[in-house]
Amino acid sequence: MKLFEALADTPERRDIRDSIRSICDQFDDHYWSEKDRTHSFPFEFCEAIAKGGWLGIAMPEEFGGAGLGVTEAAIMMQEIGRSAGVFAACSAVHINIFGLHSIVRHGTPAQQKAWLPDIISGASRACFGVTEPDAGLDTSKIKTRALREGDHYIIKGQKIWTSTAQQADKVVLLARTKPVEQCTKPTDGLSLFYADLDRKSVEIREIPKMGRHAVNSNQVFYDNLKVPADRLIGEEGKGFRYILDSLNSERILNAAEAIGIGRRALEKAVTYADERVVFGRKIGQNQSIQHPLAECWAELYAADLMTLHAAKLHDAGEPCGAEANAAKYLAADAGFKACDRAIRTHGGMGYAAEYHVERYFREMVATQLAPVSREMILCYIAERELGLPKSY
Ligand SMILES: Cc1cc2nc3c(=O)[nH]c(=O)nc-3n(C[C@H](O)[C@H](O)[C@H](O)COP(=O)(O)OP(=O)(O)OC[C@H]3O[C@@H](n4cnc5c(N)ncnc54)[C@H](O)[C@@H]3O)c2cc1C
Repeated sequence: MKLFEALADTPERRDIRDSIRSICDQFDDHYWSEKDRTHSFPFEFCEAIAKGGWLGIAMPEEFGGAGLGVTEAAIMMQEIGRSAGVFAACSAVHINIFGLHSIVRHGTPAQQKAWLPDIISGASRACFGVTEPDAGLDTSKIKTRALREGDHYIIKGQKIWTSTAQQADKVVLLARTKPVEQCTKPTDGLSLFYADLDRKSVEIREIPKMGRHAVNSNQVFYDNLKVPADRLIGEEGKGFRYILDSLNSERILNAAEAIGIGRRALEKAVTYADERVVFGRKIGQNQSIQHPLAECWAELYAADLMTLHAAKLHDAGEPCGAEANAAKYLAADAGFKACDRAIRTHGGMGYAAEYHVERYFREMVATQLAPVSREMILCYIAERELGLPKSY
């Protein structure tokens, strides 16, 4: 099968893809299905990625990173998505890639020096605490409060869906520092912290979920967590803006991951279609099997090109909100369709754990829901690109 690797368009980028592929190849479907079955975090995989220095692909060189752009990071994440670990593998390392860019962009030199090297080496593990049960996608409604008391803040509240919190020792945490009634805009008065996830004041409860069992998501309860004031990132009250800064890179990486997962599912489906013989011929000879797979190829390829376009704009410092959102939307849909078709191509065996496509499907569902839903992307494009009234 011709590979649609638009992102890997230079020798250096092909080297990134090949290096990541060779690391991922050490962790096969059996490794990941066992992790999924036993709900065990893939420490060995994370260590292998960290050992290769890849956690710092987009981090500044002065702290041990490679200082590369979102294009290179997207190649890496697409390749991880295309591996047997699919979304679990991506989620296990995702936050390291661009999730701490608020610190890179808005942290003080002392904070960067203190925090980034450990994240890049894998010595420290961070999670991301934004979503709350009563706020959902309307982040301005979060209720977690951070009250300043002398040289520290006291944080109280509840987050939901915080991924990898079971293993993390740090959290990038969004909390309200000024009551919304006192703010000009509801998104003002929110602040971003890089806090220790101190279990004495933090309770973490895993959320039972549909898939990606190797990587937990959690309810996290903050009960008067004491956070030194120098753990505030940037200026107080500007946390929401800092999060917006890294949204486009996040969308581009989400898109790359979804395309990778879709490609893996498609490759599995094609292999099966070319092997399985029923009614005296390969099932892949039937157009009802081959046409949907050809459609998946075309749609994944198109999403890949949109992702490349968004990544190039991003790395050139150009506005890329619509392109990054469109890439995420197209990629999640194309990846989902490929996983669905992979199950149907396998017939009954698509439902069996043995062929792994059911695991890919369960994991793929999350890419359409998080970190932003299909609906909110369409709202954004309708408003920003089509000039229609804001609907949310
Ligand atoms: C596997 C997984 C991992 C996650 N990891 C993290 C993490 O590490 N850290 C973190 O902070 N969060 C995380 N999340 C949370 C994720 O970002 C949220 O689930 C997501 O932002 C959607 O929020 P919600 O679930 O509250 O949906 P809601 O806001 O309740 O929305 C529900 C539905 O209504 C639709 N909707 C709502 N308002 C509108 C509107 N005005 N117009 C049209 N449609 C609308 C939405 O599109 C959605 O389909 C994770 C979620 C999942 C599933």
